[in-house]
Amino acid sequence: MTNHPSQSSVTTNAALPVPSGRVEGGQLDVWTLFNNLTAQHKAINLGQGFMGFPAPQFVKDAGSAAVQDETCTQYAPPRGKPELRNELAKNYSAFFGRTINPDTEIVVAAGGNEGLLCVFAAFMNPGDEAILMEPAFDQYTMNLKMISGVPKFVPLKTRPGVDPAQEVLTADDWVLDIAALRAQITPRTKVLVVNTPHNPIGKVFSTAELTEIAAVAQEFNLVVLSDEVYDRLTYEGKPHVSIATLPGMWERTVVSCSAGKAFGVTGWRIGWMIGAEALITPCLRAHTRYVFTVNSPMQVGIAHAFQQAAQNDFFARQRGEYLARRDRFMRALDRTGLAYTIPHGSYFVLVNTGRIRIPVGYTFPPEIADRDPCYKMGYFFTKEIGVTGIPTTEFYSETNSPLGQDYIRFAFCKPDDVLDAAAERLLRVKQFM
Ligand code: PMP
Repeated sequence: MTNHPSQSSVTTNAALPVPSGRVEGGQLDVWTLFNNLTAQHKAINLGQGFMGFPAPQFVKDAGSAAVQDETCTQYAPPRGKPELRNELAKNYSAFFGRTINPDTEIVVAAGGNEGLLCVFAAFMNPGDEAILMEPAFDQYTMNLKMISGVPKFVPLKTRPGVDPAQEVLTADDWVLDIAALRAQITPRTKVLVVNTPHNPIGKVFSTAELTEIAAVAQEFNLVVLSDEVYDRLTYEGKPHVSIATLPGMWERTVVSCSAGKAFGVTGWRIGWMIGAEALITPCLRAHTRYVFTVNSPMQVGIAHAFQQAAQNDFFARQRGEYLARRDRFMRALDRTGLAYTIPHGSYFVLVNTGRIRIPVGYTFPPEIADRDPCYKMGYFFTKEIGVTGIPTTEFYSETNSPLGQDYIRFAFCKPDDVLDAAAERLLRVKQFM
């Protein structure tokens, strides 16, 4: 074999390839960091929002049958399998109060997350801005980075006069200052993200609140990306309202949803975008570039799951189960004396840690030592209390992160025995208050 001198000099002397700014990542991401810490300290993981209980059997059966179905073994159309789009149109027409056209007003996405990316890509050029309400699901900012979009932030704040460290609040106590929202808008603003039910607050925006937001969107000709992945998980009779149903808003709203949340199958990676044809067509173009088409069997599995859910009252039952989990977890928090925000939707609870005192001289490992106090509190929970949550500063920009400093987010989409074990451990917190 001949040795090739030019080749060996290239390998030894050349600089290493440099990744683009789009994918640069400084510190370890919060999910990996806290999953690692959870394993290391044998903590109970109420951090990441994946279901800790099995998916419904009828959903899994529908998925298995679709895998065996020869019509599901090849490419689906980029817009999505007609079986699923037809079911979605049936399902959502009543909700939106209009007949949804499955051939023009729906695109099936690879989970809610891909839907978000498509909407940003469809309506933003590099340097264009999107408004996010903080605390905000962390993928928005990262998705914007992928398309060289710029996030602008407006915080949801607790009402003046309430004391979040001492009182149990409700998600309604977190409010948007509409003037602060307007102040973030510039000629480059193209997209306004609304997330209801909200992660991580659990806020379900009222019609009155959405009406105010809608007026701003109309005044400044913004596309509203309405992230409604928790649309079927609302409690206490709070109605889930889509901003797309408000007057003049169908024409400027893309709604993004997730089968992962609706049916407890986050690993299937099925979501959908719904909106007017003029909005959905550019989203389809972006989607066709990103993934071309979504896996066929799970689309048909979800189509059949929707059909059966209509017969077996699944969504009402599921809502009841989540409500029971929420209440179980809130009772556990009540026994600790910690203040928290009662969620009206989604499956997260923000716990206020303002009254917890980490002992003086307490030491943190290197991966935590240079992080903010919220991360330190998160670490303290994992190691000393034995229950993992996610530091809420993760859901804030650097400027607004002081607003999230005193909150840890816990996910209650876990089985009763896990919630009960967490409840026992959470009592340990009392010695630090
Ligand atoms: N939006 C919000 C607010 C979420 O919490 C999540 C999932 N955690 C998503 C979108 C993404 O959903 P999916 O898993 O279907 O991509």
